[in-house]
Amino acid sequence: MSENKTTPPLVATSTFQRRVVVLGATGSIGESTLRVIAAHRDQLELVGVAARSNHPRLAEIAREFGVRHVGLYDEHAYTAARTNDAFPAGTSFYSGLDGLNTLAALPEADTVLVAVVGTAGLQPALTALAARKTLALASKEILVLAGKFIMAAARAHGSRIIPVDSEHNAVFQCLEGHPAATVRRIVLTASGGAFRDWPAERLAHVTPADALKHPNWSMGPKITVDSATLANKGLELIEAQWLFDLRPPQCDAVLHNQSIVHALVEFADGAMLAQLCPPSMTFPIQHALLFPERVAGPDLSLNLDRAFHLDFRPVDEHRYPCLRLARAAMKAGGTAPAIFNAANETAVAAFLAGRVGFLAIPQIIDKTLAGTKHFEPQSLAEVLSADAEARLIASQSLSAHA
Ligand code: NDP
Ligand code: MG
Repeated sequence: MSENKTTPPLVATSTFQRRVVVLGATGSIGESTLRVIAAHRDQLELVGVAARSNHPRLAEIAREFGVRHVGLYDEHAYTAARTNDAFPAGTSFYSGLDGLNTLAALPEADTVLVAVVGTAGLQPALTALAARKTLALASKEILVLAGKFIMAAARAHGSRIIPVDSEHNAVFQCLEGHPAATVRRIVLTASGGAFRDWPAERLAHVTPADALKHPNWSMGPKITVDSATLANKGLELIEAQWLFDLRPPQCDAVLHNQSIVHALVEFADGAMLAQLCPPSMTFPIQHALLFPERVAGPDLSLNLDRAFHLDFRPVDEHRYPCLRLARAAMKAGGTAPAIFNAANETAVAAFLAGRVGFLAIPQIIDKTLAGTKHFEPQSLAEVLSADAEARLIASQSLSAHA
């Protein structure tokens, strides 16, 4: 896709400033976030960062952005970081989940971006909401696990959640100014992932390296595999249900090769609004961090001076069984989406480690959903125990697929 080199800034200057904590700063979303912050140093100040273990990269970030608060989930990495001279003098270090929670409630921050892969970001996200921070949310898995409790926390504390996931950020933009009652449905686009043009017979033999070659996006390994199975789109339908208070039949997906239209919203009169931008996460990240301001970002916008196609086609759920299973879990409700997510995380980790084949991923999810009772959770503890049980059942079924 070509880009427009002459796009002028929409808004020239601004006076406001936001102080941002980024959890998952060393990952793919984290790095895109740093590009956005570097492009808007007058408006965005990075005050805290965290990762699991990559302290050498955190030290570089701390020096480049003058960050004083640094969290490392991993205890060994935390110990190593404290003796790492590459951090600026006076850096405060935090460790483990308590450390992530401390960063999520940092008094000088007003926005917390959660981009921790998987469900480890759940407690910090709840902490940020309780501390009345704006939550810029990339970690979709935590809404799938505990959407009911996250949305309740946002309501209880009057805190705002702004989606960072590109499709949800697109829906958020399309919905602005429209009453919820006028929305007929939302449609999220899916690129189809690494194997969208492969014959179905070849899928049994794909390797992790094959699955990690995404046609349009550069992302972390887990979500790239999720894109190839379309489990990612399934997680996103459930994520959308919570973020926008929709019923399952109002959440749809469509295949769209170019990843330029990120989502469509269909209103009661049949009109649709769509959001378009090049496939770079800097667009939704910047929108979430600067909302409601709009200024020129680090990446160029679409160039309409050259011909290009926008293709849409329905998703074949036989080819993408993970999407079918996610939809069934969404329809079943209660802890079923949490079970779907736990089984998917377990199966994808095993696939990436070379322990099971690609086609085992939906089979493990299917078996785990069938083997775990789902129910309407009354507390977060009940959700977490359903999650743990599903992970155990999924792990036990791995050997059958080895
Ligand atoms: P990556 O694998 O690239 O990065 C993961 C980040 O999370 C790293 O900074 C990692 O630290 C950190 N991390 C992992 N476990 C912990 C933990 N227990 N405590 C603290 N930090 C931890 O993932 P992505 O950036 O691709 O994805 C992050 C989230 O954003 C996922 O939920 C994904 O679904 C979502 N998302 C991603 C998109 C993308 O384009 N990448 C698009 C939309 C959503 P370390 O480096 O030390 O391991
Ligand atoms: Mg997405």
